[in-house]
Amino acid sequence: MTTQANTRFVRQEAEKLGFFQVGFSKAEFMSEEAKRLEAWLNQGRQAKMSYLENHFDKRVDPTKLVPGSKSVISFLYNYYTPLKQEDDHAPKLAMYAYGRDYHKVVKKKLKILFQKMTAEIGAINGRYFVDSAPVLERDWAKRSGLGWIGKNTLLLNKAKGSYFFLAEMIVDIPFEYDSVSSDHCGTCTKCIDACPTDAIDENGYLLDAGKCISYLTIELKEKIPTEFEDKMEGWMFGCDICQDVCPWNRFSTPHEEVQFNPSEKLMGMSAEDWNDLNEESFDLLFEGSAVKRTKFEGLKRNIQFLRNNKA
Ligand code: SF4
Ligand code: SF4
Repeated sequence: MTTQANTRFVRQEAEKLGFFQVGFSKAEFMSEEAKRLEAWLNQGRQAKMSYLENHFDKRVDPTKLVPGSKSVISFLYNYYTPLKQEDDHAPKLAMYAYGRDYHKVVKKKLKILFQKMTAEIGAINGRYFVDSAPVLERDWAKRSGLGWIGKNTLLLNKAKGSYFFLAEMIVDIPFEYDSVSSDHCGTCTKCIDACPTDAIDENGYLLDAGKCISYLTIELKEKIPTEFEDKMEGWMFGCDICQDVCPWNRFSTPHEEVQFNPSEKLMGMSAEDWNDLNEESFDLLFEGSAVKRTKFEGLKRNIQFLRNNKA
């Protein structure tokens, strides 16, 4: 098959599996991104996520992560839903965590796609990832024409906004490559103005991870610092504020992935139910969910932190 036919085949098959957009880039050292990442790390913006300091060489060069690789394919998978938790006073979960763990759902799709590719194209050496390896996902998606990295530091897509997961495949065959996307944030500052913890730099495009509610509620293993009292806006797992306010998200459309549908029980939990959450109900409620990442103790800590600050 020709490079053009291979590119068309991957696009078509990815679409059949539910990915709404696919982009292709040449696998190469990312010199600009490497400089930016180095500066970000040197400023300590990664807070206590020291794993981000590991594998720097592989993070900025896919040919070191997957020797012999020629291409990085980026995929977008929608998770937007208009559904909301029923009790307005209940502690809030980020939308991406409503259903089954995206790592499991999306990775399975990549596995199927990879098998189809080898069956159609021939032997391919490669690996695929969903938020699981040292890969600069947003930068690759941007290079592949899938969107731009907004002032809120998330990937924004003109057609769909930002409520989607990113995934990548790094392989040793060439494709027809896409061109880099341009920025469409313009003079907007809605995400910067709305962030309750001032985690986004005043000029945008830079996140102080240690101040972000997603980090505080998921990554931080210690007590949440008291300086964030009254700043959490009710979030107990992640935070969607800088996506909710982004004008590009008016283009979001509901996902069609049944595995991302939340259970009625989860959406119906009242503030009181969350306060009474025990380990057994946590395990039942979050079976196969990304929320398991915090473990019961972590989520309980977050709920308690919100409660203390209301008292
Ligand atoms: S996720 Fe929330 S806390 Fe983090 S930058 Fe966005 S608005 Fe701020
Ligand atoms: S809210 Fe405005 S500035 Fe922020 S990411 Fe969206 S468009 Fe860009």
